Amino acid sequence: MVAGGSLAAVSAANALRAAGFDGRITMVSAESRAPYSRPPLSKDILSGTHGPGSADLPLADGIELRLGVRAAGLDTAARRVRLSDGDELPYDGLVVATGARAHRLGGGFTLRTMDDALALRDALDAAGDVLIVGAGPLGMEIASVCLARRLPTTVVDHMPPLRRHLGRHLSDLAVRAAREAGVRFVRPRAPATFAADGRTVYADGRALTADVIVTAAGDRPNVEWLAGSGLEITADGLVVDARLRAAPEIVGAGDAVVRRGAARTPLWTAALEQGRAAALTLLSPDVPAHVPRPYFWTEQFGLSIKVCGPVPDDAEPLTVSGAPAERSLVLRWPPGDAPGCAASVNHPMPIAKLRRLAA
Ligand SMILES: Cc1cc2nc3c(=O)[nH]c(=O)nc-3n(C[C@H](O)[C@H](O)[C@H](O)COP(=O)(O)OP(=O)(O)OC[C@H]3O[C@@H](n4cnc5c(N)ncnc54)[C@H](O)[C@@H]3O)c2cc1C
Repeated sequence: MVAGGSLAAVSAANALRAAGFDGRITMVSAESRAPYSRPPLSKDILSGTHGPGSADLPLADGIELRLGVRAAGLDTAARRVRLSDGDELPYDGLVVATGARAHRLGGGFTLRTMDDALALRDALDAAGDVLIVGAGPLGMEIASVCLARRLPTTVVDHMPPLRRHLGRHLSDLAVRAAREAGVRFVRPRAPATFAADGRTVYADGRALTADVIVTAAGDRPNVEWLAGSGLEITADGLVVDARLRAAPEIVGAGDAVVRRGAARTPLWTAALEQGRAAALTLLSPDVPAHVPRPYFWTEQFGLSIKVCGPVPDDAEPLTVSGAPAERSLVLRWPPGDAPGCAASVNHPMPIAKLRRLAA
């Protein structure tokens, strides 16, 4: 059985079939939509250039999909999952891929699901201005779409924009592009808070408001349904080992999980690769440990940024190709500053080559 209905779940189910598993696979998803990919939500879907169907994730044949139903409880001794509709599903193997939800600070919009994206897109159609709380990749991608729609846009965050995800060098580049496009940044000394009405944001006591307010302040793993199961749960999610195993016959993948002793990686490629690896562990418990290959991308303000490996916060990269003025670059951080990192900006270098450069 697979709990969850997005990338990690689909990747695990498809990998089970691809590896020759011909038993029953049931996928239980809280969403009423068939599986889709989330990165387009803050890009093509929000901008309106693509419709919802463009984000569909292909599912292998013979997988039973139960939509609009949550996994609500787990009995590991009886090997049964209790569902929100009162049903119970027995399992021989279980994949936990229930992902994460947007962290909500107050009222207004968040962006995690297709319905969120369509509702925000409609609201932007009627808006005169926008306030975004959170200057990480998601907040900045939303800001980019808003500016492309010529909406005055303010981004508020007490942390330097994009710094934690891109390091100083790349975040400076991206923030410069955002400022040139017209983003107004507000950087309070303390985290911004919402007023009780949910429609006003306070930044160091200063009241900020806009027609549309969006919170893009991180996510929370959907693991509450595992409470009382005996599995190890932390604020970062279900704890799994190097083979993505949480217990005998139970594996986990994607945004819902964290590898013991490692940082959480709530990223698209990690969910895809963990889904595959978790499925192989279910079929053959002695498979080699999964080797994470950190990779992520973001698209904003005319920049397509791809990063392989953890970006060192403050180190100067070597320029492998291009020039900052052209905004088409390949960068590499020399060994010693970080275990292998390379990045490209508006450059056609294939990911495999970027990974080799990072290594
Ligand atoms: C707007 C947006 C843009 C993004 N852009 C990028 C990007 O550019 N690059 C990048 O690397 N990453 C990006 N990401 C991150 C990436 O999309 C996620 O890492 C990825 O979706 C994780 O997949 P997942 O299957 O683990 O979890 P999720 O995508 O969260 O899916 C979990 C699924 O499980 C369902 N579920 C939850 N609880 C239950 C339950 N109890 N029972 C059954 N089903 C349940 C949920 O409804 C959901 O369908 C983006 C994320 C968002 C939201």
